[in-house]
Amino acid sequence: MDFIDRKYILLSSPYLQNFKDTGKIFKIKCIYCGDSKKNPNKTRGFFYVTDDNKTRYKCHNCQVNVSLYQFLTDHVNHLCRDYRMEKFKDNFVHTEKKEEISFEYTKSESQIGLENKIKSSNVLKYCKHISDNESAYKYLLQRKIPENHIDSLYYVENINIIRENLAEYINGEKLPDVEAIVIPFYNKDWVLTHVQCRMLNTGESFRYLTFEVEKGHEKVWGMNNIDLNKEVFIFEGALDAMCVDNAIAVAGASLNASQKFYDDNLKDYTMVYDSDYVSNTEIFNQIFKAVDHGNKVVLYDDIFVNTYMIDGEPKKLKDVNDLVKYGVVSNINKYLIANTYKGLKARLILSSLSINQLTRKSKKWENKNQSSMSGMKQRLKIKRT
Ligand SMILES: [Zn+2]
Repeated sequence: MDFIDRKYILLSSPYLQNFKDTGKIFKIKCIYCGDSKKNPNKTRGFFYVTDDNKTRYKCHNCQVNVSLYQFLTDHVNHLCRDYRMEKFKDNFVHTEKKEEISFEYTKSESQIGLENKIKSSNVLKYCKHISDNESAYKYLLQRKIPENHIDSLYYVENINIIRENLAEYINGEKLPDVEAIVIPFYNKDWVLTHVQCRMLNTGESFRYLTFEVEKGHEKVWGMNNIDLNKEVFIFEGALDAMCVDNAIAVAGASLNASQKFYDDNLKDYTMVYDSDYVSNTEIFNQIFKAVDHGNKVVLYDDIFVNTYMIDGEPKKLKDVNDLVKYGVVSNINKYLIANTYKGLKARLILSSLSINQLTRKSKKWENKNQSSMSGMKQRLKIKRT
C-alpha cells in the first residue's frame, strides 16, 4: 500500500470502530451502513489496493466502493487537506523522478501481532473514548496535551496485557498491576518500534516503562510526525514533545545517548533538557557535552526562577509542560527559539551557572558523596551492559 495512504488510514483509525490491521488490508466496522446490527464485532468494511495501485474502501455489506480520498471527505474531513497536499507533493516528486521506487511496507510477525492488539478495542482503548478511562483522559487534559496527540494515545487497564502480547517479554517477570497511558513510537516510515507506558497512580518513582516492539530501532518518539526541513526540538519525554511543534523525544536514557541518531537523521535540531540542569550536576554535564559537540541547546530564562501565582497559589515552574499547563507563555515554540544558544554564548551562560554551583561549597561533603555515588552508578551500568 502507498505509504501516504497507509499513514492517513492510521491517522483515521481513532474515528473508526473495530479497526484491524491485518498487515495487508485494514478492516473496520463499516461506517457507511453501520455494519451488522446483530453482531457488533463484524468488520465488513475494508481498505484495499487496486491493480493500478490505488487505495480504495469497500464494504461487503452495503457494497459501497469509494476512493480513500472520498472516504476521508465523508468521515474524517479534517484530514483531507493534509492528505491532498501530501499526495500532490508525492505525485510531483514521482513525475520528476520516474524511476523512484515506491515504498514497500514490511512488518515482522510480532509487530503485526501487537498492532492488531493495539487497534482491537478489547485490549487497548483510545484515550479519547473518555467513558473507558476517565483517569487517563483527565491526566492528558490537565497536562494540556493537544487533541490531535490525544487521538493517537491508548489506555490499558493493566500494563501486563502489553507484556503478554510481546514475544520478547511474555516469559519475563510479571509487572505490577497498574493502569497506564500507552504511547506508540513510530519511526519515520510509520513502523511501530516501541510502546511506552505512562503509569497512572504509581507515584513519582515508577512512572515510565518502554517496550521494544521491533529490534534495531532508536528509542525515539515522534519521527513520523516531524518535518525534516524545519528545526526539530528534542525532549526527554514524549508528553512534553507533544506540546511543541516539530518535536521528538527520547525514552529513558539521557538526551545525549542518541547523539549519533540525531546527526544521522536530522538536519537542524535543538536539544531541550529539563530545567533542573541548574541544580543537577549530571544533567549540567550533559548539556556542556552537547554544546561541545556543537549542538544548540535551550537555556531557560528567569521564568523558572520566579514563583508564579497560579489560581491564587504560588507555584514554582519546573518544565516546559508547566509553561503550557499554566499558560505562562502563549507560544511555546517561540519561547524555545528565543532561549536557544550554542557555542561560546552557551558556554558563557553555563559557566555562570557552574560558578553558582561552586559557591555551594558549604555542601562540600555532600557533593563529594554524591559524585562518588554517581560514579558507582556509572560503573554498575557499564557492568550490566
Ligand atoms: Zn457498509
